[in-house]
Amino acid sequence: MRKIVAGNWKMHKDRDEVSAFIAALKNVPVPTDVEVVIAPPFPFLAAAAEQAAGSLITVAAQNCHQKSHGAYTGEVSAPMLKSIGVKACIVGHSERRQYFGETDEAVGEKIAALLEQGITPIYCCGELKEDRVGGKHFEVVAAQMKAALGALTNDQLKRIVIAYEPVWAIGTGLTATAQQAQEMHAHIRTLLATHGADVAAHVPILYGGSCKPDNAAELFANPDVNGGLIGGAALDINQFSELIRIAGAQ
Ligand code: PEP
Repeated sequence: MRKIVAGNWKMHKDRDEVSAFIAALKNVPVPTDVEVVIAPPFPFLAAAAEQAAGSLITVAAQNCHQKSHGAYTGEVSAPMLKSIGVKACIVGHSERRQYFGETDEAVGEKIAALLEQGITPIYCCGELKEDRVGGKHFEVVAAQMKAALGALTNDQLKRIVIAYEPVWAIGTGLTATAQQAQEMHAHIRTLLATHGADVAAHVPILYGGSCKPDNAAELFANPDVNGGLIGGAALDINQFSELIRIAGAQ
């Protein structure tokens, strides 16, 4: 399966920094079977999509609203994203869940809205520290997946990307060990397989949580780890390029 290296820039970078990063990224060799995704902040998506057009870079949003239009001040819909050439969108990131009250139900609706527009949802799931300490991590991720993905058809499921992001590892410098990542990714793959072997075989499962050049080779080498959703290390062109190279070497 292809490997995906996706950068979630969160609320970082201004217009000039976004443009300079994309210009530099266009010169970075992309190995066969590696897909490169960047998720800049909303105001820069249109310019980023234009600048990346014709390159191997996919531009993603970090969030969207589930409705197509309406009185939802401050929100951005999937059809709006489509109209500016955005091809993918992160949904259900733990920061959205923690700070903006995003529920699994809303995440499910966002996924359906994105798929309707032909935009690839990058669906984030992952347990809190206390779930891991209490040995509930497999159960928590299974419940998240059921709530957010349960209503999708197999054809829809085949068009999503999953990012397993243990919340205790995001932005903390703590990383899941290669074994912890592989175990959870295999669990997610098994859950997908309940919808059909073809679904399980189709859906890339990315790891996210303090992934950087130092630990990426070990993580990406696992059979069920199909790349990474990268926060901090995606802000730096040298580190991000190195992650792309490492993904291609696995
Ligand atoms: C993220 O926010 O998706 C993430 C994985 O962040 P970091 O790499 O900084 O832990």
